[in-house]
Amino acid sequence: MEYRYAGRLSNIRASEIRELLKLTERPEVISFAGGLPASELFPIQEIKEVNDYVLDCCGEQALQYTTTEGFQPLRRWIAERMNSRLGTSFDEDNIMITHGSQQALDLTGKVFLEEGDVVLCESPTYLAAISAFRAYGCRFAEVETDEDGMVISRLEKALEENPGAKLIYIVPDFQNPTGRTWSLARRRQLAELSAKYNVVVIEDNPYGELRYEGDFLPSVKSFDKEGNVLCTGTFSKIFCPGYRIGWIAGEKEVIRKYVLVKQGVDLQCNTVAQMVISSFLEKYDIDEHIDKIREVYHRRRDAAVDSIERFFPDNIKYTNPEGGLFLWVELDGKVNTTKLLEKCLEQDVAFVPGDSFYPNSGKSNTMRINFSNTQEEKIVEGIRRIGNAIRALYGI
Ligand code: PMP
Repeated sequence: MEYRYAGRLSNIRASEIRELLKLTERPEVISFAGGLPASELFPIQEIKEVNDYVLDCCGEQALQYTTTEGFQPLRRWIAERMNSRLGTSFDEDNIMITHGSQQALDLTGKVFLEEGDVVLCESPTYLAAISAFRAYGCRFAEVETDEDGMVISRLEKALEENPGAKLIYIVPDFQNPTGRTWSLARRRQLAELSAKYNVVVIEDNPYGELRYEGDFLPSVKSFDKEGNVLCTGTFSKIFCPGYRIGWIAGEKEVIRKYVLVKQGVDLQCNTVAQMVISSFLEKYDIDEHIDKIREVYHRRRDAAVDSIERFFPDNIKYTNPEGGLFLWVELDGKVNTTKLLEKCLEQDVAFVPGDSFYPNSGKSNTMRINFSNTQEEKIVEGIRRIGNAIRALYGI
C-alpha cells in the first residue's frame, strides 16, 4: 500500500532526541529527562474512595455522555479557583474542560491557525506546544526571553516585523523548560501590547500552583481589558496526569468556538474522570495535598541546585526556579549537550538537550533538568555523573 498522507504531515518531524530518550526507560537510568510529577504523591487511596462514591451515588450519570463544555460543578470550581488565585473574573461558562492542557493547545491551533500564520513564543519554549502548533503549518518567531519573561522591546519589534501574527504563546510561571517566571510589569505590558496589536495570547499555566517560595503573581489575563488572553490549566501537576483533565478559559464567545471544534474531535472529556476530580475537590483539602507536593519538590530543587554548584564546572549559568518542575543550565559554548547526552546514557543518567526547545534554531550548550520525579540521593548521584561526563568530554 502506498499511503497518500495529508500534506500537513510534513510539518510533523520525528525527533532524534526522542529516540535517544527511549533509552532512559531502562530502570537503572537516573532520568532528569521527563516532566513527570512524583507518582508516590498521587492520592491513590482517596481516589479509590471517591471513585466508589461517584459510582454509588450517581453511576448512571457518571457513565453517560455529558456536555462538550464539561461537568458544570468542576468548571465552577476552576473559575472560582482562577479568580481567587490569578485575579481573573470567570464563571463556569468561561471554561471548557479538555484532555489535559495539551488538548487545549491543539484545539487552539484548530481554532486560530492557518498555514503560514506566525506564532510568537518565548525562546526557548515548551516542546509539545511547538509540535501542537506546527501541525497546523504555522511559523514561529522566537522572542528573546530573560529572567523576567519576554524582553518587551523585542516582543514589540517582533510584532512590527510580523504584522498579522496570530498568537503569542507563553508559560508565565516556572516555565517549561527554563523554570523562569514573568515579572508583574512584563505581564501588564504583554496584555497592553496584545491589545495594541490585536493578537491573542495563550497563557499556559500548568505549574503556577507549585510555588515553593516568593509571592503568587496575578495572571496576564487579569490585566486584559479587550479579551485577548486565553488561559490553559490542568490537574496534571496538582492531582494526577492520568485522568487527562485540563481546561481552556477565556471570553465566552471564543470558548463557544472551542466547543464547536471539540465536538468534532472527541465530543467531550471522560465523564467519570471529571466527576471523580470534582468529588475529590469537595471531600478533600486540595491545598493540603498541594502543600505536600510543594514540600517534596522544594527539597528536590534544592538538591539539584546544590549538586550543580558542587559537580558542574564553574563558568555556567543555571536557573534556580521558585517553583515548578524544571531548571535550565547553560554550559560553556564549546559543550554540545546532544553529544553529552550520549556519553551520559553510557553512565545511566539522562536530561533533555536544550536544542529541542527552540522552534527555529537552538543553543546547543543548554540542557533541561527535571527534578520532580527523582529522590534527593539519586539527584545528587545523577548530577555528579553528568558533571563527570562534562569533565571527561571537555576537560572542564
Ligand atoms: N503546557 C506545558 C508548559 C507543559 O509543560 C505541559 C506538560 N507538562 C502541558 C502544557 C500539558 O500538560 P497536560 O496535558 O498534562 O495538562
